[in-house]
Amino acid sequence: MSPQSAMNRSPMADGVKRRVAILGSTGSIGTTALRVLARHRDRFSIVALTAFSNTALLREQARDTSPVFVGIVSPNGTDVPNDWRIGPDALVESATRDDVDIVLNAIVGAAGLDATLAALEAGKRVALANKETLVVAGALAAAACERSGGEIIPVDSEHSAILQCLGRRNRRDVRRLVITASGGPFRTWSAGQIAGATLADALQHPTWSMGRKITVDSATLANKALEVIEAHFLFGIPYDQIEVVVHPQSIVHSMVEFVDGSVLAQMGVPSMELPVLYALTHPERVADAGVPRFDPVAASPLTFEPVRLADFPALRLGLEAGRASGAAPAVFNAANEQAVALFLEERMTFSQIGESIAAALDTLGGAPAHDKAALLAADAAARTLVLERV
Ligand code: NAD
Ligand code: MG
Repeated sequence: MSPQSAMNRSPMADGVKRRVAILGSTGSIGTTALRVLARHRDRFSIVALTAFSNTALLREQARDTSPVFVGIVSPNGTDVPNDWRIGPDALVESATRDDVDIVLNAIVGAAGLDATLAALEAGKRVALANKETLVVAGALAAAACERSGGEIIPVDSEHSAILQCLGRRNRRDVRRLVITASGGPFRTWSAGQIAGATLADALQHPTWSMGRKITVDSATLANKALEVIEAHFLFGIPYDQIEVVVHPQSIVHSMVEFVDGSVLAQMGVPSMELPVLYALTHPERVADAGVPRFDPVAASPLTFEPVRLADFPALRLGLEAGRASGAAPAVFNAANEQAVALFLEERMTFSQIGESIAAALDTLGGAPAHDKAALLAADAAARTLVLERV
């Protein structure tokens, strides 16, 4: 859904600054992106910033970067400047502005869907961290790219790795994608220990510092299911050619195996700065991603383990939902979002996240999926079902 067509589009070649809108600028990826862009002011200008509720941080970011447009969905204070746009429409508005070339979607959850689809329909490059968009509506995003010439370049480190390994190579030569997973904080825990995991346990990610929702997704391994579905839609690769392997050091960001048995991997120290920058510059590279140099001796040993599907039901259920297709991935995603929100409020146990997803898929996995309205109805029904169970 891009990467191939994107090969022909070179955002850096002509020396003209590319104009960027950052959706979700106050989050983990959003603030990383602002750090990266501060080092590349000669190549990029920041035209728009949006966030959900953190008025104070957004104000600071707007002061530092002087965007033309600032939007906030639900301000948490009363001190919102007069010229800011308030409310959910700010997202689509910033994503479709004529003076924006690249939309970095760093919103968490299905809340980012409309902005991604609208940006693609407007022919933009979407640098996509918001993987939930592709899980809820991958086929709609692909259709929008076809229709309007928009393109998605992944920010997720695994998908950035795969894109870099694929390069201009022919998709017919790909035998499989191997997506790496750190294994999360419970990689070495027994099933019994995992069942008793607390919120504090789940928020201790061994190798990445991220927003709370994706950190919990990395503990349940739901994140890896989201990423397999994301890869399926991004690269057009069937599910039986996508595998997950645990790699605790998070140095090999993913691999591509070709039909002749050759395997290419993309490696580097775990940092989101490089994949964020690469999503802006692809297919070119620029100096100074701000990432520490890779030292193979310091990084060794690199180890790999099979994934424990039986002990991480959210991963298994997500993989099954991907294969089931239709509304199942949207139901999986919505049930997971709702369950994780309840877990973060300590109204649900860790094990109940998987149980909620299973219950939602049992009841709603076969819901209609013919258009966006149907997918959003399935999403809403799944959230209600999970809420009613607690
Ligand atoms: P985060 O919680 O730190 O930040 C989320 C951002 O989205 C914030 O700016 C928040 O204001 C905004 N937001 C939240 N709800 C919103 C809503 N309803 N409407 C509009 N804006 C809303 O999350 P994050 O860790 O930065 O993750 C963002 C996305 O990137 C997620 O999809 C995540 O899976 C993906 N991702 C993150 C990382 C990482 O290292 N953090 C790595 C890979 C992929
Ligand atoms: Mg990832």
